[in-house]
Amino acid sequence: MMRKKYMAGNWKMNLLPNQAESLVNDLSNLAPLHTQIIYFMPSPMLGMATQWNLGSASFGAQNIHHLNSGAYTGEVSPELVRSLGATFTLLGHSERRSMFGDTVTWLTQKVQAAWKNDLTPIFCVGESLEERESETHFQSVQDQITDSLASLIPFSGPLIIAYEPVWAIGTGKTASSEQAVEMHQFIRSVLNQLQPELGHHISILYGGSVSPSNAADLFSHNDIDGGLVGGASLKSNDFKILVETQNQLLS
Ligand code: PEP
Repeated sequence: MMRKKYMAGNWKMNLLPNQAESLVNDLSNLAPLHTQIIYFMPSPMLGMATQWNLGSASFGAQNIHHLNSGAYTGEVSPELVRSLGATFTLLGHSERRSMFGDTVTWLTQKVQAAWKNDLTPIFCVGESLEERESETHFQSVQDQITDSLASLIPFSGPLIIAYEPVWAIGTGKTASSEQAVEMHQFIRSVLNQLQPELGHHISILYGGSVSPSNAADLFSHNDIDGGLVGGASLKSNDFKILVETQNQLLS
């Protein structure tokens, strides 16, 4: 079975609408046979993206609230996000966990809310530098998965996982492909413990300073089903190379 492959750009709090539209337009000719392109954009842009020349790409939100309405100033509901044409959402990005208080319980609720509203969540996990150095990285990632996802077994919707070592995000330090593969295989085993075979079906993306120079090494491994890309997703030439590299390796 070939798992679905993805190249997802996480624009974070960057770009103005005209810059985003031109970025998307530059990439609109890409028609990778094997790779789904996804743009994760700031929420106000979601309402504009269906007017852009997206080519075969999809788009999504960087975060959602777990309820569809209410007195939650500053939050964005999954129903609104879906009604604006988004079909994916990031959940539990390390920046959300460390700076904006996303808790494991909220993340469980957000995954459920995504499913209820027909959004596919990309659930992010990853260890800190301290955890890697004290060799507790496997335990940390296992806990992030089981604490938020175990209660949702059997899953009632699709899920993608992104492994993003926190020490590799935006730092220029990439996990070696051996470190990434080792963790992806470990995540599959954790998922298989939750539900037989689950780990074989779920796409697991790598994120953390992915760039044109390390793409071929990372994406040549069968256990790495694509990338979640921050910095390099803001430059059309770089992102294009990532998509083309992965697509060629899969051909
Ligand atoms: C990210 O924020 O998801 C990310 C991986 O960022 P970068 O590629 O810049 O490290």
